[in-house]
Amino acid sequence: MYVLKNSENGSSNNALKPMDSEQLREYGHRMVDFIADYYKTIETFPVLSQVQPGYLHNLLPESAPDHPETVEQVLDDVKAKILPGVTHWQSPSFFAYFPINGSIAGFLGEMLSAGLNTMSFSWVASPAATELEIVVVDWVAKLLNLPEQFLSKGNGGGVIQGSACEAILVVMIAARDKVLRSVGKKALEKLVVYSSDQTHSSLQKACQLAGIHLENCRVLKTDSSTNYALRPESLQEAVSKDLEAGLIPFFLCGTVGTTSSTAVDPLAALGKIAKSNEMWFHIDAAYAGSACICPEYRQYIDGVETADSFDMNAHKWLLTNFECSLLWVKDQSALTEALSTNPEYLKNKASQANLVVDYKDWQIPLGRRFRALKLWMVLRLYGAENLKSYIRNHIKLAKIFEQLVSKDPNFEVVTPRIFSLVCFRIAAVDNDEKKCNNLNRSLLDAVNSSGKLLFSHTILSEKFVLRFAIGAPLTEEKHVKEAWKVIQEEASFLLSK
Ligand SMILES: *Cc1c(COP(=O)(O)O)cnc(C)c1O
Repeated sequence: MYVLKNSENGSSNNALKPMDSEQLREYGHRMVDFIADYYKTIETFPVLSQVQPGYLHNLLPESAPDHPETVEQVLDDVKAKILPGVTHWQSPSFFAYFPINGSIAGFLGEMLSAGLNTMSFSWVASPAATELEIVVVDWVAKLLNLPEQFLSKGNGGGVIQGSACEAILVVMIAARDKVLRSVGKKALEKLVVYSSDQTHSSLQKACQLAGIHLENCRVLKTDSSTNYALRPESLQEAVSKDLEAGLIPFFLCGTVGTTSSTAVDPLAALGKIAKSNEMWFHIDAAYAGSACICPEYRQYIDGVETADSFDMNAHKWLLTNFECSLLWVKDQSALTEALSTNPEYLKNKASQANLVVDYKDWQIPLGRRFRALKLWMVLRLYGAENLKSYIRNHIKLAKIFEQLVSKDPNFEVVTPRIFSLVCFRIAAVDNDEKKCNNLNRSLLDAVNSSGKLLFSHTILSEKFVLRFAIGAPLTEEKHVKEAWKVIQEEASFLLSK
């Protein structure tokens, strides 16, 4: 039961109704104001949250309120208690990991999707959701100049997954079931997966979930001689050895833009080996895929025609709010044969007659949000040319940062920059690698805990390497230069100790 507080005129009350158009209008406007103010003042917050583990527990009541509170009370708490525990991924001084993008268009699309609040598991459950998704995912395929086989008109097509991790899992399950249909279910323990030691950890998780035996996961070593790209010879050697041992090579994951250092695997050569061994070839371009809408970066996915599936995250670097991971496959039946269910309560004429796509059979969950709306809005409200300029600007800023680093004798660029990530470090003094690693670790900690900017690290050939990834929508040249100044000053201080 609602306990209603009367307002001054006594005719209405302050308690929120579950859904009332006029209240939605009023509070929706207030929430937009709150968010707009957040963005306006985002640079006043420390980028990295400064709270200690468990900070929130003592600030909040032990149990949920019995009676309604006001939106103002909640927003006051957001300011006082939640924002201090937020790390500001949208800050222009956020250079850690890879970015997650958002934009006004993406935000409006998210709002609309929350507003319609549909559940579009099957075509019939909300035809526009499925059909718009088919259209916009085809649009992006064309921006990337993907081969025709990935478009929806034939056996292929694309789908919006929640994350690149889900994408890898669903294609691995599709590939697994496809090979087991021909060799028999008992062969599961013989299936072998190949990737490099730079492949994202989601591949390992997919293997765990798909029942692939851990000792059959070949993590092939890379090094600086190929800038951490997978060598086709390593793959060929591993595959031959496994064949000799009576195992069944079935899945290869190549990466365009590895998470550590944006290494690009040689797709065409890898694809050839995959093909001659009847393996499924998946390409993970979660971050760098977005750059390939620019013709001058398209070369990095040359060879994609040899792949069975390709994935990129529009939520990382294409102005589309999280989450929006685009997965294309050449053979959609591989997905649906592995993932379809057909319970009585979802049966309908369009599905029975095979006239439509039911995206529930292309993904893990049944339910799905109307995510195509935000991508559609991003593509329409910015247009391809602006999206390309957006990418090019970040790459230009990364070049500027790279030049600043290489001009400073205390520092070195560790791997050649390809996209908008710069891998660098304080160079070793007297060849003392251990001391060098410790110095770089201290630098990272000191700079990040200042709250002025946030960047991150990786390990390459046992070296502790600093990662500076540009891609937040608000980042400008001045933020990059200011960040470099902070890093440089802290480094001088550490080196003088
Ligand atoms: C970020 C990233 C992922 C994981 O993406 P999610 O959408 O967060 O699952 C996978 N692979 C690469 C190369 C990435 O950079």
